[in-house]
Amino acid sequence: ADTALYAAKLAGRGRSRLDDLDSTELAHDLAQALAAGDVRAWFQPVVSPATGTLVGVEALARWLHPERGLVRPDEFITVAETTGLILDLGAAVLADACRGAVELARVHGPGLLLTVNVSGRELVAEGYGDRTLAAVRASGWPLEQLVVEVTESLLDASSGPALQALHRLRSAGVRVAIDDFGTGYSAFSRLDTLPADYLKLDHGFTAQITTSERRAGLLQALLSLSDALGLQVVAEGVEHEEQAALLASLGCPLAQGYLFSRPLPLDELLAAAPARQVA
Ligand code: C2E
Ligand code: CA
Ligand code: CA
Ligand code: CA
Repeated sequence: ADTALYAAKLAGRGRSRLDDLDSTELAHDLAQALAAGDVRAWFQPVVSPATGTLVGVEALARWLHPERGLVRPDEFITVAETTGLILDLGAAVLADACRGAVELARVHGPGLLLTVNVSGRELVAEGYGDRTLAAVRASGWPLEQLVVEVTESLLDASSGPALQALHRLRSAGVRVAIDDFGTGYSAFSRLDTLPADYLKLDHGFTAQITTSERRAGLLQALLSLSDALGLQVVAEGVEHEEQAALLASLGCPLAQGYLFSRPLPLDELLAAAPARQVA
């Protein structure tokens, strides 16, 4: 009945995007979707740019809306954050992601990384670290193969609770990635103070590595600095062969982007997997 109401409203307004509905309605529908299990994890492969080998997957939230079809996160993450629904959303995506990763590992073999996105609001919520560890343990996914992605802005000096939560996770073996690096105020000098294991270079940065020599130089410097600090770089938003070739030649260990694969639902990823070796 709610979806019919929704459709009627959309039709009445002649609009088609969810975010044209007011955020109270959106929040209400999102809460229902979460309860119904309609917010799922999709997976984008993370590969070695030199070989194309699958190294891991990033879980990305998708709302499978009965009327609207597939809804991408830019249309609901902000509302989830402002309403606090992000706590349930994060837990739902994490559980689904771990479930999917366990299946994926049966086909691809052990050692894959699973990365999940975490909002500041989740990270500072009471008990976040312990809840996350319990959920991952219950799923059977190894804690050492989980990476939580946070943005650098969450980790400035004033964010004690966020740092504490990350420390809790890291001491249990979970890895941390700094997402969207190269946007905003990223400073090389801060790199060795961040509680992180991976640096994810933003699309905007990747887009320029083959068009600007200065950017290519910056990438090279960043790679050697990251290496010295024990950070692994993941180049995001790789769309062109030339970018992958440059990344490979500069020794960038990890990459993801449409060139390799779009985010896929679990069944498509399983179907794309190499046939299992039969003894
Ligand atoms: P992000 O973490 O930076 O994720 C990468 C985004 O880039 C994804 O968009 C992905 O589909 C897209 N992408 C991947 N390869 C390419 C490429 O080659 N070119 C271009 N142009 N884009 C590419 P998506 O799935 O729409 O997610 C958007 C953002 O929503 C994410 O950005 C992340 O910040 C947030 N998000 C997604 N899932 C979750 C979640 O479960 N929890 C939280 N808190 N945030 C999430
Ligand atoms: Ca991310
Ligand atoms: Ca990113
Ligand atoms: Ca982002």
